[in-house]
Amino acid sequence: MCAHARAAFEASRIEDIWLIGRRGPLEASFTTAELAEFGDLSRVATLVDPAQLPAVLSNALEAEQRKLAEKNLEVLRAYAARGEQRERPLRLHFVFHAAPLAILGEGRARELLLQGTRVENAQAVPAGESFSIPADTVISAIGYRSTPFPGLPFDPLRGVVANAQGRVEPGVYAAGWCKRGPQGVIPANRADSLAVAELILADLAIREGPARPGSALIDSLLAEHGAQAVNFAGWQKINAAEVAAGHGRPREKLARLEDLLRVARG
Ligand SMILES: Cc1cc2nc3c(=O)[nH]c(=O)nc-3n(C[C@H](O)[C@H](O)[C@H](O)COP(=O)(O)OP(=O)(O)OC[C@H]3O[C@@H](n4cnc5c(N)ncnc54)[C@H](O)[C@@H]3O)c2cc1C
Repeated sequence: MCAHARAAFEASRIEDIWLIGRRGPLEASFTTAELAEFGDLSRVATLVDPAQLPAVLSNALEAEQRKLAEKNLEVLRAYAARGEQRERPLRLHFVFHAAPLAILGEGRARELLLQGTRVENAQAVPAGESFSIPADTVISAIGYRSTPFPGLPFDPLRGVVANAQGRVEPGVYAAGWCKRGPQGVIPANRADSLAVAELILADLAIREGPARPGSALIDSLLAEHGAQAVNFAGWQKINAAEVAAGHGRPREKLARLEDLLRVARG
């Protein structure tokens, strides 16, 4: 963790964090490993209302979603079984089936107004009462979409570049979040980009045509656009500088663009 981020955490007086999902625990796309890591935080009470956890899983779930839902439910049930954990100074409240209606307060947030929901055709629809929770900071984490690229097909529903397993159109490929939507951490996207690279190699093997300029063309395009490009040698310098600044920790990240560029240029 960056020193400036750690200093902010250490100075923080936050006691209650509410993690709110519009749909239920079965639809939440937590990775199980990350969900379970909350449980390892010795100062944090993980508060789950057992009434919000379904006793049985719907048969409508697809195999992969079912596997994830089962594992996540197991972690959430363990949290619910922990009870209030009063000795812990920080409280993380998991709230499902609640959609934000309004942020209330004069000049700054004081309260978050929520509407109860139920899931219908995989969508949250209003159901039950509205309620509010005190909140002086609100962070939205919904509705991530990729940016359409001029001239390329876009899937407006999923907010991704329209593609089939990464193929967009001849010679154009998508990988990561602009291919699959905002799911998975860096390792998942690394595996995904490897699969797309394999696909490109396979396509190239059967593709006819004159020899192409390859990466030399990218270099000239970047220069033409005045881009501040960092090549692999530059990345290696950034990596070495961050590791050297770690002083017993894996690294101290360079968090400002100008510092990254300065180090990369040596
Ligand atoms: C708040 C947050 C915290 C996260 N924390 C973690 C974490 O701790 N660990 C972890 O493993 N994962 C984490 N993730 C997930 C991780 O960030 C993603 O899995 C990963 O970045 C997806 O990689 P990507 O290559 O698909 O997209 P990105 O990393 O977003 O890369 C896309 C790049 O394309 C560029 N771009 C966009 N449009 C254009 C254009 N028209 N021309 C040129 N360039 C363009 C963007 O600027 C961007 O640099 C986090 C995500 C979020 C949102």
